[in-house]
Amino acid sequence: MDIISSKIVKTRKDHYCFGCARKILKGNKMQRVKSVDMGSVSTAYWCDVCQKYWNKYMYYDDEIGYGDLRSSDPNGWEEIKKSIENEELIVNVDKRNQIEDTWF
Ligand SMILES: [Zn+2]
Repeated sequence: MDIISSKIVKTRKDHYCFGCARKILKGNKMQRVKSVDMGSVSTAYWCDVCQKYWNKYMYYDDEIGYGDLRSSDPNGWEEIKKSIENEELIVNVDKRNQIEDTWF
């Protein structure tokens, strides 16, 4: 299997993440990966949790099945998910502080 393109896109439709099999609603950012395997092109979408999980634990040419990232290591996967949610929380708190600053 060869990756022919890989980029972060804001989805216009709902997509299932290849790594965790969760349905990610449209309007979210996902990584779109196009690959070619024995002459046929396929497209897979990855959520931000699975992107981060992959970068941390997997290798470029590892091959997994649909949903395997979460089902084969639910605890590790949940940990990554929590760390992303915490980051988002911090960003939101920062934004709120900035808004309050401008008020006074
Ligand atoms: Zn995922």
